[in-house]
Parts: sequence; C-alpha cells; structure tokens
Amino acid sequence: DSKRFGGKVTLVTGAAGNIGLATAQRLAASGSAIALLDLAGEKLDEAVRTVAAAGVTARGYGCDVTDAAGVQAVVDQVVADFGQIDFLFNNAGYQGAFAPVQDYPVEDFARVMTINVCGAFHVLRAVSRHMVARKFGRIVNTASMAGVGGPPNMAAYGASKFAIIGLTQTASKDLAPYNIRVNAISPAFMGPGFMWDRQVELQAKTGSQYFSTDPKVVAEQMINSVPMRRYGDIKEIPGVVEFLLGDDSSYMTGVNLPIAGG
Ligand code: NAD
Repeated sequence: DSKRFGGKVTLVTGAAGNIGLATAQRLAASGSAIALLDLAGEKLDEAVRTVAAAGVTARGYGCDVTDAAGVQAVVDQVVADFGQIDFLFNNAGYQGAFAPVQDYPVEDFARVMTINVCGAFHVLRAVSRHMVARKFGRIVNTASMAGVGGPPNMAAYGASKFAIIGLTQTASKDLAPYNIRVNAISPAFMGPGFMWDRQVELQAKTGSQYFSTDPKVVAEQMINSVPMRRYGDIKEIPGVVEFLLGDDSSYMTGVNLPIAGG
C-alpha cells in the first residue's frame, strides 16, 4: 500500500466519540486498518460504517474499558482478526460532575478515576504486552489541559488527567527498550457541541467565583482565557495524533502535547 500508514493496524478507544471517530477517520484516510473500541451500541456500529467508508478494514469491538479481563479479551480478538496492533490511540474518557471539592460526589469521583485512569491502564497494559512481543509500537494517550493545571470544580477529571500524563511518562520509560513510544495529547476547550455546552452549563451551575452563573457569559469567559480567542475544532486534533504515531516524531517519547490555542 502506497499510503503513509498502509499495512498498519490502529486500535482506537472511545472510537464512537467525537475525538476518537475523527481520528479513526484520519488514520483510515492514511491507509491504516482500524479496530474501533467503545461501549457496545448503535453509536459504535455507525462509527464502524463511517470509518469503513474510507476503504480500509474497520471492525467494532463493544467493550467497557473498566473491565480488565474484557479489555484483554478484546485486544486478543483484535490481534486474531487483524494479525497485529501497530498503533494505539487510548482515548476513551468521561468528564464527570462539576462541583467544588468539598461537595464533589464520592461515587462520581470513583467512576471518573475507574474509567479514565484504570480503563486507560487496562488498555495500555494489554496492548503493550502484544507490542513488547513484536518490539514495535506507537501509543498516544488522551490527557487534557485539565491534567496540566487543575481547573476549578473538576477534582476527579483533573486528577484523572494528571494521572494519564504520569502514566504516559512511566510507560514511555518501561517500553522504550522495546521500540515502543508513548506520548500524550492535551486538548483544552473544544467546540461546538455537547462537551462544550455541558461544561459551560455545569460550570455556571456551580456558582463559583471563577465563572458567571449565566452559561453565555461562562462561554465568553472561557474563550477570553485562550490566547487565540476561540475554542478548538475537533478536526485540529487528529493530525497531532497522526504526527505522534508516525515517524516524524521518531525521537519523541513521554511528552504531552497541548492542543490549546496558546
Ligand atoms: P466523547 O464523549 O464524544 O467520546 C468519549 C467516548 O468514550 C464515548 O464514545 C464513550 O462511549 C466512550 N467511553 C466512555 N466510557 C467508556 C468505557 N467505560 N468503556 C469504553 N468506552 C467508553 O468525548 P470526546 O471529546 O471525544 O473525548 C475523548 C477524549 O478526549 C476523552 O478522554 C476526554 O476526556 C478527552 N478530552 C476531551 C476534550 C473536549 O473538550 N472534547 C478536552 C480534553 C480532553
């Protein structure tokens, strides 16, 4: 295959979501076969059809990343179906509740950590065992700017994304001897859409000193905190992931690239 990623196989988690699907489409356009992992359902089936339309092999795997044994079974199945996994985009995640730390719901904190940290670890562990055996692998974890500076009212999400950056650094060291590079991306405010509306509305509802109680004003406040004075488009993410998976980043591992407008 003459395309850049022809003959490669990529596993994308959270592949039915905004960033996962946009990235899966981009990698498919570059010739990679795609294994799409997400919670089972119509959204995943639809995403598989969308990616397959690029003319590559695409298969869906319904899986909850919090289930370690289930993740291992899916990774084994992907290897059985495709023969190998060259690239991992470890991207499934959940934003959690918005509340000041003293009121943050205990159960939601555990849920965010279980999905974002344990889930990402389960996938990273299972895929890296396969990559270690092949002595080849490129991994990109989705962190967040919430994992670089802790945003108000997001105790669980912020902590979980700090953890992803730490996991990226440790994994990059553990896996470097096996020709496996592990990097992270950190998007900030992405919009428009559900995630943007949800965080604007929920930040307004907390009534904190940091944001207005009017969601429209919160949106302006957030945008005004960005040097480039706009939110990012989902389409501005996949190219950065492709860069970190491909050979243009051949001497980079353990880094976290902000995609944040400054
Ligand atoms: P999204 O909600 O569109 O996609 C997330 C996907 O993860 C969904 O399809 C969901 O079904 C899947 N998922 C959630 N829990 C899962 C589980 N237990 N098992 C398997 N799949 C599960 O959101 P998105 O914006 O595409 O987010 C993708 C990643 O980017 C997340 O890690 C998120 O934290 C991160 N992120 C997003 C933004 C943003 O503003 N959109 C900013 C920074 C970081």
